[in-house]
Amino acid sequence: MISCMKSTIFICIFACLLPVKGFTCAFCDPKVIERQAVLETENFRVLADYAPINYGHMLLVPKRHVERLDDLDPALGTELLILQRRVSRAFQQLLQTQDTTLIQKNGYAAGQSVPHVHFHLIPMHRHKWQTLAHLRVFMRILFGSRPSDPQELEKVVALFKAHFEANNLQ
Ligand SMILES: [Zn+2]
Repeated sequence: MISCMKSTIFICIFACLLPVKGFTCAFCDPKVIERQAVLETENFRVLADYAPINYGHMLLVPKRHVERLDDLDPALGTELLILQRRVSRAFQQLLQTQDTTLIQKNGYAAGQSVPHVHFHLIPMHRHKWQTLAHLRVFMRILFGSRPSDPQELEKVVALFKAHFEANNLQ
């Protein structure tokens, strides 16, 4: 009887914890922020994407947890555009490209995988076979891309962090 009660209590505690685990947001997770953040401004963080579509792929993420673009305070628009410009300039200096693709997936049907609004900023490079290069990128956008090797991710984070520390101007 006591053993049965213990099992019931254990199952209840486990069941109560499940929804909490289910609501965990990767972009609010301190471990993810510590591992992937390269820059922080008043209201945003820039995180290196753990499964980059191209080398240097960054995510612009508001610090406050809001799920959809339409939940984001419109007053943050200017800060977001300034940040986008700043990351693009980092691409120019570190990756020698001025070309970028900006993607925002809003909602499940659009393919949003993390329920915390975010903007993908992907450095794009010129190729002899540009159409094939576009196709490769858009296939990765649609179907996802392979996660980085942890050491590779660490190197990208260190590279961009050092750049932003040395280039503190907007
Ligand atoms: Zn979040």
